[in-house]
Amino acid sequence: MLQQTQVKTALPYFKIFLLHYPTLESLSKSNKKKVLKLWEGLGYYRRARNLLDTAKIIVKEHNSKLPKKIIDIKKLPGIGDYTANALLAFIHNQATIAIDGNVKRVFSRIVNKNENKIDFNELIETNKKSLFRTRRNSDFVEALMEFGALVCKPKQPECFKCNIKTTCGYFKSDKKFKQIKRTQPKEKNYNVFCYIDKMKNKIALTKKHDLGFLNKFYLPPIKEATIKNKVKNWNFHSNFKNSISNKKLNINLYYKFSSKIPLQLKWFSLKENNEFIPSFTKKIFKQILDAN
Ligand code: SF4
Repeated sequence: MLQQTQVKTALPYFKIFLLHYPTLESLSKSNKKKVLKLWEGLGYYRRARNLLDTAKIIVKEHNSKLPKKIIDIKKLPGIGDYTANALLAFIHNQATIAIDGNVKRVFSRIVNKNENKIDFNELIETNKKSLFRTRRNSDFVEALMEFGALVCKPKQPECFKCNIKTTCGYFKSDKKFKQIKRTQPKEKNYNVFCYIDKMKNKIALTKKHDLGFLNKFYLPPIKEATIKNKVKNWNFHSNFKNSISNKKLNINLYYKFSSKIPLQLKWFSLKENNEFIPSFTKKIFKQILDAN
C-alpha cells in the first residue's frame, strides 16, 4: 500500500484490510473482486491484484513462508529489485539495502555526486564491510530511509544536526553537486461522458475507454481530446484537473440524463453495487447530481 502512497492515506485501508485478512492464508483464499473492493479509492490497483496473486503463490508453492533467495522473491508478481531487497532486509534481516529515492539521495550526498553518476549496487558492494556492521540490518535499512526523509531531506538537508556531517562530501565541499530536476508527467486532455439515469440514481459505465492504464475497470466513456474540442448534444458540466495513478489529466466533464444507453455500456448503482468502481467515477457522479 505504501508504494506511491503516503502513510496517512494508506493507514485506514491497511487497518480494514488486516481485519479482513489477518493472515497470508486468509488472503490467499480470497478473490480479486473482494480485494479490489477493500482497495477502492487507494489507486494503483495493480498492487492489490499482485498482492493477492503473491499470497496465493507463497501459500501454495513456498509453504506460506517468504522465500529467502532474491531470485525466488523476484519471481513473485509485481516484485522488483527494490521490494525484493526491502523484504529480505525487513523479514529475513539479510545484509542488503532497498534503494529508494531517500537512500539514493543520502548516498549521493555522502559522495557528493549526482545520482545518475553513481552505480548504487557497486557502491554498496564496495562498502559492505562498513555498511553492514550490525546484526539488526532490518533496523539499519529502515533508519537509512527515515534519515533521508527526516534529516537529509530533498530540499533543505538539516546538516547542522546530522551525525555524519564530518564524513559527508556534500557538507564538506565548496563545490556541491547540483541535483537534476525530475521531469513532471505531461498533462493530457480527456472528455468524460456520463449517461445518468436520475430516477434510478444510476450511471452508465464501460471498460472500453481511452484510459488504457485503467482498462480493467468500469469508468464512464472517456475519449482523449484536444482542448478546443466542442462536443455537440452533451451538457458541459465542468473542467478540472485530476491525477490518477501517476497520470495528470485535464478533464472536460459532460453529462446527459437518459434511460437509454449504447450497447457497450452497463448501468451501475454506486451505492448498492458490489463491483469495484474507481473513486474517480464516484466523484464525478456526485458532482453532476449535486449540480442538478
Ligand atoms: S551532512 Fe547534510 S547532506 Fe550530508 S548526510 Fe548529513 S544531512 Fe545529508
